[in-house]
Amino acid sequence: MKIIRKISNLRKTLHAYRRQRKKIGFVPTMGALHEGHLALLRQSRKENDLTVLSIFVNPTQFGPNEDYKTYPRTWKIDLQKAEAAGVDSLFSPTVPEMYPAGCVSWVNVDENLTSTLCGASRPGHFRGVATVVAKLLNIVQPNRLYLGQKDAQQCAVIQKLVKDLNYPVAVRIHPTVREKDGLAMSSRNRYLKPQERREATALNQALCLGKAAIAAGKKNPAHVITLMRRYIQNHSSGIIDYIACVDPATLQPLKTINQKTLLAVAVRFGKTRLIDNRLVPTYNV
Ligand code: AMP
Repeated sequence: MKIIRKISNLRKTLHAYRRQRKKIGFVPTMGALHEGHLALLRQSRKENDLTVLSIFVNPTQFGPNEDYKTYPRTWKIDLQKAEAAGVDSLFSPTVPEMYPAGCVSWVNVDENLTSTLCGASRPGHFRGVATVVAKLLNIVQPNRLYLGQKDAQQCAVIQKLVKDLNYPVAVRIHPTVREKDGLAMSSRNRYLKPQERREATALNQALCLGKAAIAAGKKNPAHVITLMRRYIQNHSSGIIDYIACVDPATLQPLKTINQKTLLAVAVRFGKTRLIDNRLVPTYNV
């Protein structure tokens, strides 16, 4: 595995492969690798000749009171995991390499997609995400980009960005990888105290409940949301940030559930904010 810090070096390395018509799969991450990330890497390995992993804790997607400074950085373990996962090139640039002094260009995806759900409590977050992903796509120029369904809003924003800005890349969304008890894997789960960790399963359980209610014929989003809200309130001490029932592509709230639906939740346990979601198919009931 090649470890590359400079954009120019990565470009040189990948140019040689591209000339041999090798297909490049790209998995962007912020490190602290877990099974969720590794699943994306495995899918990329299966579908491409070459897999590029990026590890970059992107400062522009963190708000001033968020956890940029304390975000888990586990470089040595990440290296071992990346190597074992068969990564060909690990791109880990410094902040000045990605954002040299005087860098003033940003990618803004329309606020209908970026000011709702997580965007409502994290202003500027998706501007940072869209900008860094646009930059990484220009640097890596992959054939396929791998994202996790765990971050459903990020998937919607990046899919729109790729389409609107004509990036020649196929976006592959991998299903959410979960712990045995259903908690969606996340680099932030390690912040949870034991009691919070136990209670955090309420997110997935509430989503299962919501999905079951829709499968059983419930069509009113308000009823489904209330059901989920009650479950989380009764089974955890977490503070609900949002519970939403939206169109998976536009992220706009549904008036009635008569189409493919995204159920999404965000809950705070102390300083740790957890998100999870469930895609619910259209049921003919
Ligand atoms: P992050 O390092 O948290 O920025 O995540 C990097 C990529 O891994 C993103 O596309 C995430 O959606 C994806 N990812 C994170 N957690 C999971 C998970 N539990 N299952 C599947 N994909 C995930």
